[in-house]
Amino acid sequence: MIDRHSPKFREYLELYEGAPLLELGSMADHVRRALHPGDVVTYIVDRNINYTNVCVADCKFCAFYRRPKHDEGYVLSFEEIGQKIDEAKELGAVQILIQGGHNPYIPFEWYLDLMRYIKQHHPIHIHGFSPSEVDFFSSRFRTSAEDVIRQLQAAGLDSIPGGGGEILVQEIRDRVARKKAGADRWLEIMETAHRLGMKTSVSMMYGLGETLADRIEHLMRVREAQARTGGFTAFIAWPLQPEHTEMEGTPKTDAVTYLRTMAIARIILDNVPNLQASWVTMGLKIGQIALRFGCNDFGSLMIEENVVSAAGTTHRASLGEMRRHIRDAGFTPARRRQDYSIIELERGSVEGAVRTVGAAGFSGAEAAARTA
Ligand code: SF4
Repeated sequence: MIDRHSPKFREYLELYEGAPLLELGSMADHVRRALHPGDVVTYIVDRNINYTNVCVADCKFCAFYRRPKHDEGYVLSFEEIGQKIDEAKELGAVQILIQGGHNPYIPFEWYLDLMRYIKQHHPIHIHGFSPSEVDFFSSRFRTSAEDVIRQLQAAGLDSIPGGGGEILVQEIRDRVARKKAGADRWLEIMETAHRLGMKTSVSMMYGLGETLADRIEHLMRVREAQARTGGFTAFIAWPLQPEHTEMEGTPKTDAVTYLRTMAIARIILDNVPNLQASWVTMGLKIGQIALRFGCNDFGSLMIEENVVSAAGTTHRASLGEMRRHIRDAGFTPARRRQDYSIIELERGSVEGAVRTVGAAGFSGAEAAARTA
């Protein structure tokens, strides 16, 4: 449990609330440069495949899901998923992000068969099934979360995304997503995955009516979990997109809040190697500024994105535009794999990129082992 009266908590909260914007950014930039001293900013090409939109979790902030028996509910076939992977690979994708609703009609064997099918017919890194889905499978199929992860891993799952983290304070989750894995459970599943050798990312969706102190608690809980397992490779945050959801009308947070949030995250999470700029929700210009507020990664060129776009907010860019925005912000773009190892540095060779990353304290091999 996080002690909200501890000196560290108060120090973080005071910084988040009161430090002048550019001072906060500069402190975060200092942490980022200590971890990543070169001028490289990474990005990945991947495809987000939402295998089903049928869901019984009823999250108030979600515009993507459909209740069972709704006319617009779908489950993709293996062939459709395979075709999406092939299209993505042609465009240079090195991973798929596969997530879906809590669909009560899909048997567990379907997920295992899907993993095997992908690995056999369309091999690619599979980043999939957030802790909320793992928790749903665990209760639906009456087995432990550890067993769920073990079986998915054995069938081909490579890493787990940080979806469904929202705010890791139970009171907030009870208000907006009470049927989903609670805060303790979400972190427990992440730590279980780490102990099974799986790397994961970690996220925060803010603007749900939480206080700044709630956000600090979220970040400190992630920091503590990371100190125990070391399994988080990257942190990503984005604000609530309330359009077309039950929370429509909730005031949207602004760009300054986003920049302050990324900066305080970089300061608190100095044990999580990578911070992604969320330009899909914030736009490319704010994404560029975020690179001076602690972020070292420009996220992904998402070939398909259904969840944020269902809520009406999505920024799109070509690969060329993404690279140009990274360059214009004063950095060298580098295409990466899911483990943050470099595939292609825009200027220079792959060996050069590994040297640059190595200067951050992670050699190419270490980076592959430590990050995802
Ligand atoms: S966010 Fe995920 S779990 Fe929640 S309603 Fe939407 S699809 Fe379901």
